Amino acid sequence: MAIQKKLSLMIPGPTPVPERVLQALGSHPIGHRSKEFQDLVYSTTQKLRWLHQTKNDVLTITGSGTAAMEAGIINTLSKGDKVICGENGKFGQRWVKVARAFGLEVIEINSKWGEPLNPNSIKKILENDHKKEIKAVILTHSETSTGVINDLETISKYIRNHEKALSIIDCVTSIGACNVPTDEWGLDIVASGSQKGYMIPPGLSFISVSEKAWDACDKSNLPKFYLDLKFYKKSLNNNSNPYTPAVNLIFALEESLKMMQEEGLENIFQRHEKHKLAVSNAIQALNLKLFADNNSLSPSITAIESTQIDAEAFRKIIKDRYDILLAGGQDHLKGKIFRVGHLGYINDRDIMVAISAIGLTLLEQKIISTEKLGKALEVAETHLQ
Ligand SMILES: *Cc1c(COP(=O)(O)O)cnc(C)c1O
Repeated sequence: MAIQKKLSLMIPGPTPVPERVLQALGSHPIGHRSKEFQDLVYSTTQKLRWLHQTKNDVLTITGSGTAAMEAGIINTLSKGDKVICGENGKFGQRWVKVARAFGLEVIEINSKWGEPLNPNSIKKILENDHKKEIKAVILTHSETSTGVINDLETISKYIRNHEKALSIIDCVTSIGACNVPTDEWGLDIVASGSQKGYMIPPGLSFISVSEKAWDACDKSNLPKFYLDLKFYKKSLNNNSNPYTPAVNLIFALEESLKMMQEEGLENIFQRHEKHKLAVSNAIQALNLKLFADNNSLSPSITAIESTQIDAEAFRKIIKDRYDILLAGGQDHLKGKIFRVGHLGYINDRDIMVAISAIGLTLLEQKIISTEKLGKALEVAETHLQ
């Protein structure tokens, strides 16, 4: 039996929470209409703008990441609107489901799971839309289910060229992991959630809204109440929330955003990049295959094929023996892949230990040699330096 409560979370959310943030969470709640809380809302909002690299409003919603995704759709669009949805994984699929649930006309652009979306397919449809009927292009930046990053920089250029369509983007596992310059790329809606790169527990979601998206809000006729962003905007002008927010999670948010500012955006991105390279290259040195296309690896999660092993049994060994939680595959990928999360509060030690645990388990099962394991650790170390 392992020591209790020393679980290392290497899944793509919830991610590990720093001690400073845990302590902030453990304070007594304060009144959400107090001056003290208004100061806190002001402070977190400024920092959220910094994180999103934007002058736009960034609103905080109590709810998981999907709340922000749904809010992005129901506030800016109307029944029957034609939209493009990029789908190359579980979260792309979620966008399609939300859009259909609200009666939108969805043009799906698919890629095989494990491959990135083809920006040219989106470009073609936008260029041929002479009547400007397409109201939004909706997609996932980092597709957590497959470990693929989509080329949002290129796609956002095509959306801006169309002029009419909004970009509605799930940046849940890219914000706080890699560069998402909201203003520079002209992103209209950026949705994210607290239990990912933000390094705080689940329960908050964030949505950045451009001027163009606010204009679209005025025309939207989809039903909404709790997620009606107009109310959030109005109360934000007063550094407040329309309803009782998760007060303690806001304490945590203030602390985690402070930590992020102390580290600096560039350093945060570099840390994720080197962890991505260390994990993906060490995994290949262990004779395992990456599930995602090598040129489109997500900065926050590495998906690995499990042809020689039973992924679920393998994950159980790693959890029981080493107290490291890895993620499995979702839907038809269950048992076929496992995923190593390296998102948020992760350091080099976490990476070395995870690679060692994976390598030692393969060694024990006589799938690799000691030399291979040594080589893989050496490969990881080169990238971490
Ligand atoms: C985690 C995640 C979400 C949000 O899921 P919730 O469970 O609602 O927080 C959305 N998109 C991606 C890509 C994610 O990784």
